Amino acid sequence: MTIPWANPQAAYVAYQVEIDAALRRVLQSGCYILGPEVEAFEAEFAAYCGAAAAAGVGSGTEALHLALAALGIGPGDEVVTVAHTAVATVSAIEMCGARPVLVDVDPASYTLDPQALRAGITPRTRAVIPVHLYGQAADLDPILDVARRQGIAVVEDCAQAHGATYRGRRVGTWGDVGCFSFYPTKNLGAFGDGGAVVSCDAALAERVRLLRQYGWRERYTSSIAGWNSRLDELQAALLRVRLAHLEEDNARRRRLAGLYGGRLAGGPVALPAEMPYGEHVYHLYVVRSAWRDELQRFLAARGVQTGIHYPVPVHLQPAYSRLGCGPGALPVTERLAAEILSLPMFPELSADDAGRVAAAVCEFA
Ligand SMILES: *Cc1c(COP(=O)(O)O)cnc(C)c1O
Repeated sequence: MTIPWANPQAAYVAYQVEIDAALRRVLQSGCYILGPEVEAFEAEFAAYCGAAAAAGVGSGTEALHLALAALGIGPGDEVVTVAHTAVATVSAIEMCGARPVLVDVDPASYTLDPQALRAGITPRTRAVIPVHLYGQAADLDPILDVARRQGIAVVEDCAQAHGATYRGRRVGTWGDVGCFSFYPTKNLGAFGDGGAVVSCDAALAERVRLLRQYGWRERYTSSIAGWNSRLDELQAALLRVRLAHLEEDNARRRRLAGLYGGRLAGGPVALPAEMPYGEHVYHLYVVRSAWRDELQRFLAARGVQTGIHYPVPVHLQPAYSRLGCGPGALPVTERLAAEILSLPMFPELSADDAGRVAAAVCEFA
């Protein structure tokens, strides 16, 4: 029996009674789009993050797109972010007509290098998107410092970091705006697509609410030009169930990471570092090896499925070669892409199975 690297179905099984009740409640209500479930989820998620307001939207990509649009970013503007991320971070920048400027990451945290940010800023720069990768916050203090000096906005990509903290406060509340994805495998996952924008600036969140539904303040009257990127009632109801268990699920992920850390210390792979500035929520448990492909095959032969997040950095993807950032431009990112391997990590993974995974890794010499 293969141990998967992620298992969203296990979350359904774990909370089946509550999830089935929520589904029935929405189906019987007759209200399926932007109703009481979305409103309640927005309030509960904003409170969880410690933000003034949240707006439920169609996906994580759309959360970034809407946040940038709400900040007034568009054609002629540049937005700095990393190439070591999901392609969604970069496609969201282009969706609002701005130009992505891709920079390198810090070799310890794998997140935006503040020095590289400084070097990537031009007179056209309007925003920076730090990505809180694998469940760990980027080093926000120096990033916020650069942004304040330059007068640019900070849009946090929190798609992999629901509940992670930086200096004791949750991610998404440090910058101008925080963007979340509820893709099923994320720490807070829906059973379909979904996303949210949170902000400590209630007016900014309100602008996102207008943009996500044709700019309507009142039905059929577009006060600004928006589009359709709504969270639906079913997903919101299911997210409310899962949000109530997020702390416990993140604690399980942290315990599994502790187990991996103990069993793999001194072994054949480099382990992820938990930076001293915050609490990692281990969306992914990513190890490194110079023999990554061999290790992946070795583990597969022993019933351990692994992932690679991500095998080709954004600047080396065929679609983005036009950004003019070729091979060799981002050495830390490129080295990571060749060495990283995501071991199985999800709250329902048993300690026994995690032990099997660790034993298999240690057999690789
Ligand atoms: C998942 C993810 C996104 C995109 O979210 P979707 O809901 O799939 O659109 C954006 N950024 C990062 C870092 C992600 O991991």
